[in-house]
Amino acid sequence: MASAAQSILKEKFGYDEFRPGQDAAIKRVLAHENTLVIMPTGGGKSLCYQVPALLQSGLTVVVSPLIALMKDQVDALNENAIPATYINSTVAYPEAQHRLEMAARGEVKLLYVAPERLEMPDFQQDLASLQIDLLAVDEAHCISQWGHDFRPSYLQLQTIAAALPSHPTVIALTATATTRVALDIGQRLNIPEAGMINTGFARPNLSFQVVKDQDKDAFLLDYLKLNQTQSGIVYCATRKEVERLYLLLERQGIAVTKYHAGLSEQERTANQEDFLFDRKPVMVATNAFGMGIDKSNVRFVIHAQVPGDLESYYQEAGRAGRDGLPSEAILLFAPADLQIRRFFIDQSEGDDAYKQNEYRKLQVMNQYANTGDCLQQFILQYFGQASQPCGQCSNCRDDREAVDVTLDAQKALSCVVRMHGRYGKGLIADVLAGSKSRRLTQLGLEQLSTYGLLSSWRKKDISGFIDFLTADGYLMPQGGQYPTLGLTELGAQVLRGEAQVMRKQAVKARQSLPVDDELFQQLRSLRYDLAQKQGVPPYVIFSDETLRQLCLLR
Ligand code: ADP
Ligand code: MG
Ligand code: ZN
Repeated sequence: MASAAQSILKEKFGYDEFRPGQDAAIKRVLAHENTLVIMPTGGGKSLCYQVPALLQSGLTVVVSPLIALMKDQVDALNENAIPATYINSTVAYPEAQHRLEMAARGEVKLLYVAPERLEMPDFQQDLASLQIDLLAVDEAHCISQWGHDFRPSYLQLQTIAAALPSHPTVIALTATATTRVALDIGQRLNIPEAGMINTGFARPNLSFQVVKDQDKDAFLLDYLKLNQTQSGIVYCATRKEVERLYLLLERQGIAVTKYHAGLSEQERTANQEDFLFDRKPVMVATNAFGMGIDKSNVRFVIHAQVPGDLESYYQEAGRAGRDGLPSEAILLFAPADLQIRRFFIDQSEGDDAYKQNEYRKLQVMNQYANTGDCLQQFILQYFGQASQPCGQCSNCRDDREAVDVTLDAQKALSCVVRMHGRYGKGLIADVLAGSKSRRLTQLGLEQLSTYGLLSSWRKKDISGFIDFLTADGYLMPQGGQYPTLGLTELGAQVLRGEAQVMRKQAVKARQSLPVDDELFQQLRSLRYDLAQKQGVPPYVIFSDETLRQLCLLR
């Protein structure tokens, strides 16, 4: 016999089966046990409170920072004949009172509220007079200062949840929580560790890619022209860059729109709708865009500039492929973009400890961009989840030959040892390059025996090599803004000749041959069709590098 929850799932939502974690979460909630649900984006968190809301006699209050989407969410519920309403800054006072009265009379089952409301004493009193069975806290990571999107008003939830006379059950939901953040949410909302339902973070339908050492604009144009009919988001770090890329793409005839906090409310809404309804399938935006956007057919998310931390990256990239179909998450990486992020951190209002922590998170992002290991695995590991190499990210699919670079690594690592772990990447690279800078002379560093050991390299390549050694665990950064580099145990093994260092490198010698552009584009679009047919990402078929090799004009 189907459970009551299953019947609701079928009758009200039209689904036959629960997705992983939904069943367990709903059971706990119905047993009045506080619960934290950690599920990837698109995993189906909303049903975890919407189904219980319909099975309980009282009201379910949903706290969500996604004010722009509340109306849509509520409309969607109403279309399924589920009585729901919302209160946020777009609702005038008399109307808000009216909606509260409806809630009090039991005429709505779900009431969505913006977190800012919770800070108003009057509103807290209004809530206290309602029979609330369930308090759902969406995007629950916003309650933690360790998270990447802390909202002070979320802190109110701690006292409100405890003080409500109807003693509601609490369900908190998030897609991004490191262990530390999960424990913090649990502590603040009184959720026992046994009440954490974690379906894991993996998004097997996303293939991750890092693009380095390439002209970013050219890559973007190429990619978007090839994927004309696909929907996707291009994220930039600044409004200025959004405007620049928007113009660049629009002039090339790409159906593109834009979104950032500098646009009028009206323009933002219009552009968002153009994107949602596929009138303009490509959105160029800052991170002001997208939280909670429920557009299921986003096929790619490209970061044109590096985001500040891996949580944000994974959340933003995760807006691709909510329908479960193969989708791409691409980071266009240029080391200079890290500078923009450092500037943001310097300008932020946090204290020193906060800033140091932000710098460290940025370093993780830098390591992601420079690792030779599986990108998906790198991310999951950061969230504390063990996994196998994904087989489809740009590192897993990198079919370039891995070259033994042990000797070069030994040169670089011995230089770090000679510098006693007291200096950062820039000075280490200067010493290895044999640079004539005044600074080296002042510090007496040009006396080192490792001075000029890699003098035939470009400084930029040495810098990239040090990033690689750091990302793959041979070097360890210490400190925040200008981290010093020290040797790890693995690095020491390399110096002792006990471990080898392998690195995949571009085949430089051949790049001097010109590429037949037309052929390249044709093959690339064939590859895309093939990938579509087989339901796999294009890189699974051939990497760009391989295609390029095929199209060399010999
Ligand atoms: P999240 O909040 O975890 O990102 P949502 O709750 O917005 O995800 O759900 C994502 C999509 O999955 C929605 O379109 C939703 O209708 C759909 N969905 C949720 N649960 C199920 C289910 N059991 N079966 C089929 N589709 C589901
Ligand atoms: Mg959600
Ligand atoms: Zn991989």
